[in-house]
Amino acid sequence: MKSADGAKTSSWYTGIDVPTYRPLVKSTKADVCVVGAGIAGLTTAYLLAAEGLSVVVLDEGPIGSGQTGRTSAHLASAIDDRFFEIERLHGKERSRLAHESHAAAIDTIERICNEEKISCDFTRLDGFLSPGPSDPPDLLDRELAAARRAGVADVEKQKTGGLAGGPCLRFGRQARFHPLRYLVGLADAFTKRGGRIHTGQRVRDVQGADPKKEKRAVAQLEGGVRVTAEHIVVATNTPSPINDWFGIYTKQASYRSYVIGAAVPRGSVADALFWDNADPYHYVRLQPLREKEKDLLLVGGEDHKTGQFPEDGAPFTRLAAWTREKFPMMGRIRFRWSGQVQEPADGLAFVGRALTARENVYVATGDSGMGLTHGTIAGLLITDLIAGRKNPWEKLYDPSRKIMNKEFVSENANALAQYKDLLTGGEVKSVKDIPPDCGAVMRDGLKKLAVYRDPAGKIHRHSAICTHLQCVVQWNPAEKSWDCPCHGSRFDPTGKVVMGPAVDDLPSA
Ligand SMILES: Cc1cc2nc3c(=O)[nH]c(=O)nc-3n(C[C@H](O)[C@H](O)[C@H](O)COP(=O)(O)OP(=O)(O)OC[C@H]3O[C@@H](n4cnc5c(N)ncnc54)[C@H](O)[C@@H]3O)c2cc1C
Repeated sequence: MKSADGAKTSSWYTGIDVPTYRPLVKSTKADVCVVGAGIAGLTTAYLLAAEGLSVVVLDEGPIGSGQTGRTSAHLASAIDDRFFEIERLHGKERSRLAHESHAAAIDTIERICNEEKISCDFTRLDGFLSPGPSDPPDLLDRELAAARRAGVADVEKQKTGGLAGGPCLRFGRQARFHPLRYLVGLADAFTKRGGRIHTGQRVRDVQGADPKKEKRAVAQLEGGVRVTAEHIVVATNTPSPINDWFGIYTKQASYRSYVIGAAVPRGSVADALFWDNADPYHYVRLQPLREKEKDLLLVGGEDHKTGQFPEDGAPFTRLAAWTREKFPMMGRIRFRWSGQVQEPADGLAFVGRALTARENVYVATGDSGMGLTHGTIAGLLITDLIAGRKNPWEKLYDPSRKIMNKEFVSENANALAQYKDLLTGGEVKSVKDIPPDCGAVMRDGLKKLAVYRDPAGKIHRHSAICTHLQCVVQWNPAEKSWDCPCHGSRFDPTGKVVMGPAVDDLPSA
């Protein structure tokens, strides 16, 4: 079993049986319906079930088949957009709350692992932040001061260490785990508390409750069945029409991030989390292997905007070269995969009440590179909102907050600029120029076509115009998909939608 995100499979699928669940065949009712069985959805469902509520979880794929199955699984309370940035954008008190919430998320994962006896290699570790080559000399000092103002107790500057070898910051009480083992354990604990999980069907629409007419919220699934509930939590991670109230896709940008995995002799690399502040940045950690005396070195980075594949076409090659230089003891590369990260324009996720015309719909998206902790924060925060309790992070993560900063303007300007592709020629003149298992955009008169030649040589032609907001999709050679450079929608080689905000497939042409 593998993630539906793309052609490549992550290391997390090795040696694990992810349980499958039946699709929903008959409409049903529950106190709460959760859409999405990644870490955000399953944590929310588990915590609500622990409060005695009846909860149904729906997912179009198997559990964990979204980005939770493609992560690198650092559990960090050291904010990856930097504390001084969060303080600049949100102020000192909110920077403190941001740290408090991520630290609480790691504590929650640790507690759930202990209480439910989930064996997923959860381990507390130090995290080391190194400056990038073009960073100003005072970067670490500014970050150290901002981290301390945010209430981080266990942080210090070291003279040497980290990825760059020179000065770095050490953050204590970070952690790592095996994300799929954790999700499988969480799903098991949830169903033991009476929770229901149905997979294999897409949710097409979500309607909030209308208390004036005593109408409950409804999730409408493919196949005509529906779940009626007091509350619906949309934890689909990527923006999609079912969670895109108030144009969340304009407030966050989709990026692809790449990971490689290679064995290293145990003890040759320190068991810690490592990050640099380069652009694009790198993130490194170990995962214990069952092989004797070896660990899996997981190295990630080389992020770029979805649908804007670098012209040299070589994120994996660059990542491998960087890794060999830093870790010459590494063996052959065993794993290569990529995944999608939603970068919110102000560095914080969108978690809480979705302000639709109707009520009792909640959303969790905008994970940034910290989606495992953001997803766990979503579980804690949304559970409080549904239970009618106050939560100190409600305003911090409010999905309807207005953002008007330079990141918001430049990401939206970048999206607009992609429409130039409507006027340009095609990448190839003839289908003969497309090798097997590859795709290219071709011009056909006034139209642009997404043309894919499958491994058997058969040609598949679809409109290259994204069904979300009419940008021209681009071929992603790493994951064999058509990716939209404007808002990050993705389609498989035969035009079937893989990821929102688009909901409709690319039409055949
Ligand atoms: C390469 C990479 C490295 C990362 N590294 C880290 C890291 O080190 N630390 C960290 O904290 N975060 C990291 N992240 C981010 C983190 O992995 C994700 O943000 C997080 O897993 C998202 O969890 P989620 O539950 O919100 O979404 P997902 O895991 O994507 O789950 C959403 C689910 O919703 C389902 N779904 C979507 N639409 C529908 C629909 N219409 N109907 C039914 N089901 C639907 C999908 O099938 C999916 O299972 C990384 C991400 C990537 C890609």
